[in-house]
Amino acid sequence: MASKLEYIWLDGYKPTQSLRSKTKIEHNFSGKLEDCPLWNFDGSSTEQAPGGSSDCVLKPVFICKDPQRKKAYLVMCEVLNPDGTPHDSNGRAHIEDDDNDFWFGFEQEYFLWNPETNKPLGFPDNGYPVPQGPYYCSVGAKNAYGRRIVEEHLDVCLEAGLNVEGINAEVAAGQWEFQIFAKGAKEAGDQIWVARYLLERIGEEYNVAINWHCKPLGTLDWNGSGMHANFSNTLLRTAASQETYTKVLEAFRPVVKEHIEVYGADNHMRLTGKHETASINDYSYGVSDRGASIRIPLFTVQKGWSGYLEDRRPNSAADPYKVAARIIKTVKSVL
Ligand code: ADP
Ligand code: MN
Ligand code: MN
Ligand code: MN
Ligand code: MN
Repeated sequence: MASKLEYIWLDGYKPTQSLRSKTKIEHNFSGKLEDCPLWNFDGSSTEQAPGGSSDCVLKPVFICKDPQRKKAYLVMCEVLNPDGTPHDSNGRAHIEDDDNDFWFGFEQEYFLWNPETNKPLGFPDNGYPVPQGPYYCSVGAKNAYGRRIVEEHLDVCLEAGLNVEGINAEVAAGQWEFQIFAKGAKEAGDQIWVARYLLERIGEEYNVAINWHCKPLGTLDWNGSGMHANFSNTLLRTAASQETYTKVLEAFRPVVKEHIEVYGADNHMRLTGKHETASINDYSYGVSDRGASIRIPLFTVQKGWSGYLEDRRPNSAADPYKVAARIIKTVKSVL
């Protein structure tokens, strides 16, 4: 019996990598990751190799069901050089310390985008819809645009076994969010990338593009898109101490540049100090503060300073592998 394995990888485009994939037919496939063979692709078509020596290797690292196709699987892959070493573009392989004691909840925001008008769903061909206010968590055709896509995506993610925790309409027209929770940097990154892949593919059915840019409406008075990174480790989950939280939060201060470097392209357009963000040049934290770099959820304080933190700076186009790896590194610097 033939199975369809969709091998998914990240291309070599800078500064933002995109998803690529192709289908491999396997006969009598077990459904297990260890039975997914290595494969290859033309790296000269993805900015990952010169034409004269174009083969790059796909190494399967995560597998789940593909609910949209018959007898099918989604296989997330790392890209290797022909000699088996990780390709430069392979952020996953460059995770230094994939500590599963670190839990991540990523809030992935994005715009549903009309490729013909080059505007978000809900934007008229000329001019603008009414200003921000009614769209967040809205219901009804006046304010909520594209729900069928969002619902289909949620169902497909759950059927695939991804750990989606919720969805909501966002502050701008045509803007939505899903949240995924996972343990460890690799697992969290794999799940976000596969969920992004599924959303892209569902969009095709509706001729709707997914706009991952963090500020697709530029300097206009519309929110940008983030990928807030909620995180915790045993220390944060069981601290029972404001002092411990302060220590961890202060560890982020001297490495603002290192974090911003992996928090997504064009983030200066989004981290302006307006639209529920902190300025890209500042570092701040505060309880319940959505204008801070890192928010301390009220819940964490109410539980007597045990819980998690929310780094609000990563943007919608950031690579979750790199974001998670950097957070682990900084938090561990105080252990
Ligand atoms: P917001 O109020 O910022 O919109 P959301 O409800 O969208 O918050 O997202 C909160 C995220 O926090 C969820 O993805 C959830 O998985 C995550 N989260 C909750 N508890 C923890 C924890 N202990 N460690 C890491 N992430 C957590
Ligand atoms: Mn060919
Ligand atoms: Mn949210
Ligand atoms: Mn949000
Ligand atoms: Mn948030």
